[in-house]
Amino acid sequence: MPNQRILVVEDEDTYTYVVAANLRARGYDVLTTGTGREAIHLATVEDPDLVVLDLRLPDLDGFDVCRTIRRFSNVPIIMLTALIEPPDRVSGLEAGADDYVPKPFNMEELLARVDAALRRVEYDRQPDPSTPLQVGELTLDVAHQQATVDGYLLRLTPVEFKLLVELVRHVDRVLLHEYLLARVWGDEYTGELHLVHQAVSRLRRKLAAAPAHLLLAALALLDAWALAFYLLPYYYG
Ligand code: CA
Repeated sequence: MPNQRILVVEDEDTYTYVVAANLRARGYDVLTTGTGREAIHLATVEDPDLVVLDLRLPDLDGFDVCRTIRRFSNVPIIMLTALIEPPDRVSGLEAGADDYVPKPFNMEELLARVDAALRRVEYDRQPDPSTPLQVGELTLDVAHQQATVDGYLLRLTPVEFKLLVELVRHVDRVLLHEYLLARVWGDEYTGELHLVHQAVSRLRRKLAAAPAHLLLAALALLDAWALAFYLLPYYYG
């Protein structure tokens, strides 16, 4: 199997150098660029397995780069954000990133996130001998990582797809954030419930845009930390 290829988008040379060197030491092929425009170009022509994307770039905003890449690719994207970013910027990570790591970061942490994101893709690609999962007009082909609503293909990131699989496997059951976090992101993400919130809100938007009217309903329980989500097939007319 060829080495997995990672695109590192960062204009600060010290970061680029250290991140690239560490990824190469782990056996990854690494491409680097300091601009958003070239990042979009490289994501198109080089088809990387993962993108590490800094939020602050000299030419384009990292969110815009992320959104643009999402139009044509489901590649996992890990965003690097400065700790001084206003919380609304960070919590508004709805451009399609799968994860984010605040700067300055611990290299081991970033490497763990990269490994986890790539493992998720591998896991999702493993063929599933069972028949496709189905609820209402939603069909999930786990082997090919495809979600369709009445034949309409939903463009989901690997995280969103995996989250949807969990929801469909437990349809009509209340699932705690903690459970979804552990199942979809992994144990190393304990406590990072915002990731669940963001992914669910993206999923809800994508489902709402589908021709059938599946709703991803949010259910608030008594305890503020025990918000839960479940999938509710819902039909108009
Ligand atoms: Ca930067």
